Amino acid sequence: MSKKEFKAESKRLLEMMINSIYTQREIFLRELISNASDAIDKIYYKALADEGLVFNKEDYYIKVTADKASRTLTISDTGIGMTQEELENNLGIIANSGSFAFKKDNEAKDGHNIIGQFGVGFYSAFMVAEDVTVISKALGSDQAYKWESQGADGYTIEPAEKDAVGTEIILKIKANTEEDNYDEFLEEYRLKSIVKKYSDFIRFPIKMDITSS
Ligand code: ADP
Ligand code: MG
Repeated sequence: MSKKEFKAESKRLLEMMINSIYTQREIFLRELISNASDAIDKIYYKALADEGLVFNKEDYYIKVTADKASRTLTISDTGIGMTQEELENNLGIIANSGSFAFKKDNEAKDGHNIIGQFGVGFYSAFMVAEDVTVISKALGSDQAYKWESQGADGYTIEPAEKDAVGTEIILKIKANTEEDNYDEFLEEYRLKSIVKKYSDFIRFPIKMDITSS
């Protein structure tokens, strides 16, 4: 399967994220949870407008799962999901306001100090992850797809298995270095405190499942 290249400006932002010596890396979780919440909002409003769509409140939630043994942190949602084209268009290019504002404001500067002030979006996952996998099944679609990237050199998309509509973002958390501690993003107390700090305004339940072995 061939690797696709990111668009030039996406690549620049990505490289900035990957190499950031940034003290507020934790905001990646705010970004991914807010995307999950947006995706549930979309399905929620669709259900309100469509009598054929049954809406059960308890079916809509975000789940944060950490597994220390595999060093994975997974953010999943029961939102509207993405088709193959949407994975391509939404994650392959920066077309959104948050990242764009960040990029423009950052043109002359180097970036590290102001990342936290903007909605830097999905790519902020690369501040803490060496590999990002997105498995998604769109509402009304029979086939799920998997998007995967190890960073600036591109991404792949292929068919995948997923039963329920929604999206799963799987982060392979970077290994600690002498300067940087990434293990904290697999720790229950740390994840809970980040979620608490940034997710007060999220109106869907956020479930946590941390495996400490
Ligand atoms: P923004 O949220 O500002 O649009 P992001 O970089 O955070 O920008 O996300 C880019 C796009 O990717 C979103 O607009 C959305 O279309 C899509 N996306 C990201 N995460 C999800 C998700 N969990 N479910 C569905 N779509 C998503
Ligand atoms: Mg976003």
